[in-house]
Amino acid sequence: MVSLVQAERRVRAMDDDILPTDEEFLQSLYQAPQDAHNPADDPTFLKESIEILIKGGAIPAGADPTDFVRAMFDPQRNFRGYKSSVMTNEARNCLPTSLHHLLDVPVAYLHIDELNGFVAPTPRGNAVIVLNLGIIRHAGMLSRCTLALVTYASPEPFCRDHQPAAFVHGIVSLARFVCTEDYDFLRKIVVWNCPSLEPLDIKGAQLGGVIEMFVLLHEYGHVASGHLNSSLITRKFGMDTYSQEHFQEHEADTFAFDHLEKRYGKNTSSFAAAVLFRFFDLIEHMVYGKPTSSSSHPAGRIRWDHLKEKFRLSDPEENGFGRVESLFDMILKVREGILPPPKNGASHALKAGPLTPSLRKS
Ligand SMILES: [Zn+2]
Repeated sequence: MVSLVQAERRVRAMDDDILPTDEEFLQSLYQAPQDAHNPADDPTFLKESIEILIKGGAIPAGADPTDFVRAMFDPQRNFRGYKSSVMTNEARNCLPTSLHHLLDVPVAYLHIDELNGFVAPTPRGNAVIVLNLGIIRHAGMLSRCTLALVTYASPEPFCRDHQPAAFVHGIVSLARFVCTEDYDFLRKIVVWNCPSLEPLDIKGAQLGGVIEMFVLLHEYGHVASGHLNSSLITRKFGMDTYSQEHFQEHEADTFAFDHLEKRYGKNTSSFAAAVLFRFFDLIEHMVYGKPTSSSSHPAGRIRWDHLKEKFRLSDPEENGFGRVESLFDMILKVREGILPPPKNGASHALKAGPLTPSLRKS
């Protein structure tokens, strides 16, 4: 006689044959809409990218530069390619061996109308991580502008190829791009070209990588902390996602910072976290006119305050983030004139991006 448990197991085994694998499920989230485009279709963008990559020695010998750049900016390749493998490999260095099982959770990048990312349940009862490509792709530029501004007056400036206002404009333009997905804001940034920096701006890119790693570790933190409560699944971006309580966001931030700090040290980690959370705060001001929590996430500033308290980041100078805070305070203070007026009463002003995931109906 077949017990109920055995019967259930058999059904499950059958389900596993029929249900998509986690990888297949993740792939199904990517659906390029009609207007998805490769920025390398723009001849100017293509030409400039080739120049920069050749200068930086980033195009492999024998590769066709046009094909290389087109592939680099291909939306599908961004979704699930080079980027996610680089990040998960580096995450291996941040996490202790006892947590390496987290690296089995598939990770992909999409444009989503939230700033960080989310964890979604799969048909087989596991989880996948989706990160927002919108900001992550530009974490290096955000880092370059911040590094230039906080060292501008120092004896060893990061970059003085442009006036400080141009770097402030870079940060504000990135924030406006994240809110609108309007590539015009990126095109108008003048600090893309800084002749005194290495062509690939390794230092800026490295800080950008630490910021990205915080975001990825945060999502691993939700998985590791058992935040995947099936009673809290909500429909978002046209798919099921695990939604979290505010305290769980703080727990995931704590997990992320803890492992980031072990890998990169306290000063670099707090600098990177300050840039990320104050950038979120800037976006909240841009959209709502003030720090604003959503139903799922505390305001950026609240999350950052929580980390400062938790990790006793009490000395802004010693811990390196003081100048980041002063910089973003200054941007907010003079925001009249440089920030658009907040959209009154906008409950959800952040626009979904061109690669918003939607479940393929099959
Ligand atoms: Zn979270």
